[in-house]
Amino acid sequence: MTATEHPRLPMLAPRRGKPPRHFADLDAVERKDALKQLGQPGFRAKQLATHYYDHLTVDADDMTDLPAAAREDLVAELFPPLLSPVTQLVTPDGETVKTLFTLVDGAKLECVLMKYPDRATLCVTSQAGCGMACPFCATGQMGLTRNLSAAEIVEQVRLAARAARDGSLGGDPVRLSNVVFMGMGEPLANYNAVMTAVRALTSPAPEGFGLSARHVTVSTVGLVTGIDRLAGEGIPVTLALSLHAPDDELRDEIVPINARWKVDEALDAARRYFDATGRRVSIEYALIRNINDHAHRAELLAKKLRARGDGWVHVNPIPLNPTPGSKWTASDPAVEREFVRILRMHGIPTTIRDTRGSDIDGACGQLAIKER
Ligand code: SAH
Repeated sequence: MTATEHPRLPMLAPRRGKPPRHFADLDAVERKDALKQLGQPGFRAKQLATHYYDHLTVDADDMTDLPAAAREDLVAELFPPLLSPVTQLVTPDGETVKTLFTLVDGAKLECVLMKYPDRATLCVTSQAGCGMACPFCATGQMGLTRNLSAAEIVEQVRLAARAARDGSLGGDPVRLSNVVFMGMGEPLANYNAVMTAVRALTSPAPEGFGLSARHVTVSTVGLVTGIDRLAGEGIPVTLALSLHAPDDELRDEIVPINARWKVDEALDAARRYFDATGRRVSIEYALIRNINDHAHRAELLAKKLRARGDGWVHVNPIPLNPTPGSKWTASDPAVEREFVRILRMHGIPTTIRDTRGSDIDGACGQLAIKER
């Protein structure tokens, strides 16, 4: 592993309260109002959006179509710096890059960029910390610090898209094509900011980054009201449900929100999501040795999924990535194979999930911040 420090990057002064207002937080009406207050015509909103979402820049010097006298002011007012990179870790093959950022109030976040030959996927953070308290997850152990603003989420994407486009992380330039809300936090517990960010991701340029909705994945612990709201948005993002157990007795233990919404309620909501969007839902299942990896649980999972129809779901088991000091570990490979075999035998499409980035603590659930 190689760690690159960035001592010359300006550190943002710690400050209390909400992050400053940013262009990416505002809707069309709010942008026009903000411009009016700055003495600028409303059509500048489109120019600024083009610089931000299409050219991926917030550098006043790049904005030569704006009046020279106003550029610096517009940038200072509408594109305040929100994320300051602190550390970057790169896997030896150079294909996975984890960046730790500090926010204006000193909160930290991480995101992970995974490069493939022709595209790249970014795993983004939606909250500083997380309130869901899943005992196997590193972020779950930290508790919730605060929700991120929409712009703090969107900035993760802009910075990664630019780095991927410019090849500035090493290797050939690639297009950032996929975004997964599988970093720190529970996205549906920060619903409005996440939806503003999702709209920015999926709107065509210059109003957004123009990603295909199917290439955006919102992963949830199973907040049923949030899933139903998401289903009604008319943006068919991919939904991932972190199930991890097919029975309430065990899920009550390993996914505490199960006290509020039971396995069957979460699965019913996932099925409704499919009905509303036509998007096949992913069931996430971290295989934890001797905890949830039994053949009878694979059978029960298959039964519950089949009971809700065919062709609406697939399962993504992932070997547990043990958190430091955890009493749990990943399932035995033979047990994992058997779990997958049983699901497939019952006709459930099943693919073991990529554990890329585990050697830089960048794999699922490992985005705990050691600097804390
Ligand atoms: N709060 C969202 C996003 C969490 S991170 C959710 O619960 O879906 C994305 C995925 O990583 C979730 O499925 C989460 O359960 C899983 N995960 C967390 N810790 C893990 C670990 N130690 N090993 C493997 N997967 C983990």
